Amino acid sequence: MSRRRRIYEGKAKILYEGPEAGTLIQFFKDDATAFNKKKHEILDGKGVLNNRISEYIFSHLNQIGIPTHFIKRLNMREQLIKQVDIVPLEVVVRNIAAGSIAKRLGLEEGEVLPRSIIEFFYKADELDDPMVSEEHITGFGWATPAEIDDIMTLAIRVNDFLSGLFLGVGIQLVDFKIELGRLWENDVMRIVVADEISPDSCRLWDIKSKKKLDKDRFRQELGGMLEAYREVADRLGLLHENEPPRGKGPVLVKSD
Ligand code: UDP
Repeated sequence: MSRRRRIYEGKAKILYEGPEAGTLIQFFKDDATAFNKKKHEILDGKGVLNNRISEYIFSHLNQIGIPTHFIKRLNMREQLIKQVDIVPLEVVVRNIAAGSIAKRLGLEEGEVLPRSIIEFFYKADELDDPMVSEEHITGFGWATPAEIDDIMTLAIRVNDFLSGLFLGVGIQLVDFKIELGRLWENDVMRIVVADEISPDSCRLWDIKSKKKLDKDRFRQELGGMLEAYREVADRLGLLHENEPPRGKGPVLVKSD
């Protein structure tokens, strides 16, 4: 039996060679890590949930004209993606203060920010992904000024889409991280959204109770992380797709 070639293994995913040139297979592991791998656990079924949630988000981004690397989900743990050159930045968009911005600027967790704020972090595990400015990014050649413009436009479009999507199911999008890739089509290069978007990379709070439905449950040892991820998938209508009464698509929650 021929084994497919492993291209890269990260903290939560493995990339394998794809069936055709220019494609890869992205495998979602059950590993949960935080604080640059200082905290590590296996959570049975996390990979399946993230694969499904990320598929749902990326296929909708594709549909509304926000380019991504996503082609299709292959099975419970794998998706077919386009091969891209990853821009070495983590791009964070924040709507509400939490996590590192709250600490850095002395803000109260839960404070609504004056506007959506974009931050860049240089992807370097050995340095704990330091925050960088546009000066660093252009100066060291990680992205050009035109690419930064494209990245910021994409980040804001993703924020608008995700905020609305989650609001419709009673969830507040506090912040999220995306990664971007350079995709060549013939001789034209464009920036696309890559990696994954899931409760591992977003802060999601129940609108009414403010219950955390994301990886902070793991980082802060709150417990119930898998249940929270399942709740997100369920509210998006992804858990009971074969059961007639629920139907497909998000379940609307009335806000008062
Ligand atoms: N984030 C991520 N991967 C990282 C760091 C952050 O997906 O390596 C996400 C995190 O889940 C949150 C957002 O980016 O939704 C902002 O994270 P923050 O800078 O507050 O860092 P943290 O508090 O996680 O250290």
